[in-house]
Amino acid sequence: AAPRTPLADRSPAELASFVDEQRAAYAALTARGLSLDLTRGKPSPEQLDLAEALLHLPEGHLDRAGTDVRNYGGLQGLPELREMFADLLGVDPDQVVAGGNASLTMMHEVLVDHLLHGGLGSPRPWREEEKVTFICPVPGYDRHYTMLESYGIEMVTVPMREDGPDVEAVEALVKDDPSVKGMWIVPTYANPVGSVVTQEVAARLAAMPAAAPDFRLFWDNAYALHHLTEDEAKSADILSLASAAGNPHRPVVFASTSKITFAGAGVAFLAGSRETVQWYLSHLKFASIGPDKVNQLRHVQFFGSPDGVRQHMARHRAILAPKFAAVDAALTAELDGLGVAEWTRPRGGYFVSVDVPDGCASRVVQLAREAGIALTPAGASFPHGVDPRDRNIRLAPSFPSLAEVETAMAGVATCVALAAAEQLLA
Ligand code: PLP
Repeated sequence: AAPRTPLADRSPAELASFVDEQRAAYAALTARGLSLDLTRGKPSPEQLDLAEALLHLPEGHLDRAGTDVRNYGGLQGLPELREMFADLLGVDPDQVVAGGNASLTMMHEVLVDHLLHGGLGSPRPWREEEKVTFICPVPGYDRHYTMLESYGIEMVTVPMREDGPDVEAVEALVKDDPSVKGMWIVPTYANPVGSVVTQEVAARLAAMPAAAPDFRLFWDNAYALHHLTEDEAKSADILSLASAAGNPHRPVVFASTSKITFAGAGVAFLAGSRETVQWYLSHLKFASIGPDKVNQLRHVQFFGSPDGVRQHMARHRAILAPKFAAVDAALTAELDGLGVAEWTRPRGGYFVSVDVPDGCASRVVQLAREAGIALTPAGASFPHGVDPRDRNIRLAPSFPSLAEVETAMAGVATCVALAAAEQLLA
């Protein structure tokens, strides 16, 4: 096909006729009475079925050491499961805690323990500080922000780029301001932009001078193993980098099997320096007599080995990759060359991030909603739900079927074209 003329370069008459076309396409779209949902970064039923055998495990109830997993105890989690995921995360098993079903809960515990008690190197509990500030790369994961918001923690944003957060901006923020106590970072296939923190950026985050002696990197590696192509990103080894830089307690690493086995019944992991692990357990012991070791044992038996986990992820990829390809194909077919949208082609993770012209994102989401296509609210990937440029849209193609993704995305592309053209004409 002939390359399209960018909308911004068209004459008012050309633009008016383009808007007419898009209005007709949009009317046809609404007439279909669709009811589709691209809001949720959840595994599809087909993906959950991949782990159905878990429901018939474990066989027996003893772990390797002969411990009865049905009983209380073992606060740090089953050693053989910690070994398996220590291998996958590139850390030592005694630096890993295997916990309950949600890494988000572990992040929350680490945050609250810092607030109530302080962490390694804290001069005082964070609640006694006049102000606590976190650095938030944007766009990012909404639940990271709402967690901070619920405790009145200030958020300052830095742009998320292809190689990770804008590390110069981060360095400048942490250097002189002791209220900057933490930073969120999704290092691998970030939600929603899909970027991967490079070794170089990770090394700078690990080594940068921080005014707060207890500055923490909340290293949320939720998508460490969630590749969509054969070009598998390797997560930077933040614990070794931080340790080598003399900041061994700076990173706390989180991961889970929520998008490996069952989103509601997987196993979550925390990793850090040995001291960090002991600090974490020293507070956890007042809240738990031990995790669900039955679930941990069945995960061990289901996977068998770290390679078993990798092979399982390849089965997810076979289901997910065509859906991501469909998103790209629909956006390319409708929008390529118009100069009104840029979108990611992630090599892993669960999301596609689309940037439309400033001021258009809410309108696109509204148009889509009125056509029966639910999108994540505009601004959701920013602190307090406000995208200052109102341009970012997060798409989550994992849950609907491939046919539904194709239909929904053709509709979304129409909404983008219409909203952008209307704005130019106004
Ligand atoms: N971290 C990120 C970046 C996520 O996108 C998600 C889920 O969407 C989670 C954490 C939730 O993890 P979990 O199910 O282990 O609580």
